[in-house]
Amino acid sequence: MLELEQALRIILDGIQPLPCEIISISQAVQRILAQPIVAPSSLPAFDNSAMDGFAIRAVDSADASPMHPVSLRRAGLIAAGTPSQDAAEPQSCIRVFTGAPLPPGADAVVMQEDTTPDPQRSDGIQIREPVKPWENVRFKGEDIKQGEQVLSAGETVTPEKAGLLSALGLSHVTVHRRPIIALLATGSELVEPGAPLPPGKIYESNRLTLATLLPSLGAVPMVYPIIPDDQHSTQTALQKALSECDGVISTGGVSVGEKDYVKSSFEAIGGRLDFWKVAIKPGKPFVFGTWQNKSFFGLPGNPVSAFVTFLLLVRPAILRLQAAADLGMRSVPGLLGEPLANHGDRRHFMRVRMDREGKVTLAGTQASHILHSLARANGLVDVPPQTVLPAGSLVRVLSWSY
Ligand code: AMP
Ligand code: MG
Repeated sequence: MLELEQALRIILDGIQPLPCEIISISQAVQRILAQPIVAPSSLPAFDNSAMDGFAIRAVDSADASPMHPVSLRRAGLIAAGTPSQDAAEPQSCIRVFTGAPLPPGADAVVMQEDTTPDPQRSDGIQIREPVKPWENVRFKGEDIKQGEQVLSAGETVTPEKAGLLSALGLSHVTVHRRPIIALLATGSELVEPGAPLPPGKIYESNRLTLATLLPSLGAVPMVYPIIPDDQHSTQTALQKALSECDGVISTGGVSVGEKDYVKSSFEAIGGRLDFWKVAIKPGKPFVFGTWQNKSFFGLPGNPVSAFVTFLLLVRPAILRLQAAADLGMRSVPGLLGEPLANHGDRRHFMRVRMDREGKVTLAGTQASHILHSLARANGLVDVPPQTVLPAGSLVRVLSWSY
């Protein structure tokens, strides 16, 4: 039986990122950059005003005081989006709005709120306090300089990063193609939700959980029909899914029962079984194999085992197919509000709920068929074998949030 890290190493070592494609930035959120992004221009692209106000030469305001306001002549106006026509001459000012280019000659902007119309002349404004040089001026390149690397290959595009790329005038980025991932569920007891439930049958739930998780990792789920427990159906379904998709995830049929046909079927269609069984709870019977350079993940059928093994062993692989730099889950420190006990001989990834203050409690009963505790949980704590972590312990929570 492999340790989790050994299993993950074998999985990741066999994965080559998918080919690249160029996509619109509007489609790029959740996707992973295949190339670094170098700024084609500076941000801001020119010196401009940070305020609605008046562009002046700071030296002209040096003698201003409430008792002796300085009067400057309004010599022009620049709105945002127009180049500056007028230069700031001594003893004059140019009306500017936020984002308007700083006119030549000006080295500061006095806020509109700090000025009053000059009662002595209709084209004058008064300033009551000196303005420092470069006050309220946003400099060319102070955010990003032309030629600077702003994002790295392997970074995930977020809405904020998409905005940054747009601000730099970019419309497309190069990313690795989205992995198309087949989802198969094996089990003669399984029935599609919504259909009547004959005696002894249960509703299938793994494909839906995984199908809704995959897009958040940049992958496209392909959901296949339920597979009854027999060798022929399992072989046919695996062969079809492996030839149609970039990778295949199945659930169920990987234990030691006579009705567990996944491993034998995978080998019968020419698949190479790389390993079976990982020393974790839940999820021990996890199987991984390779078929014509495509990865096959055979997850245990219990919904909690399927979910946990997906997070620990499949999620990193999906990200690696897109050449992501960071394959790890978010790991957040928290304080145990109650003890976590693992009396077994495998690491137990316990379902926990962490509140906003970082207090961590069990999300409920931990058996791998218990769904309500998974639905309540927002993270997992890795509890070593034969270990009790007392209340008050600092733990790391592998967390997810939607
Ligand atoms: P297996 O790994 O096939 O031995 O299944 C273990 C347990 O999980 C059994 O109780 C199955 O009925 C259940 N199970 C297997 N696959 C699914 C599924 N797709 N949805 C819900 N329960 C399942
Ligand atoms: Mg089964």
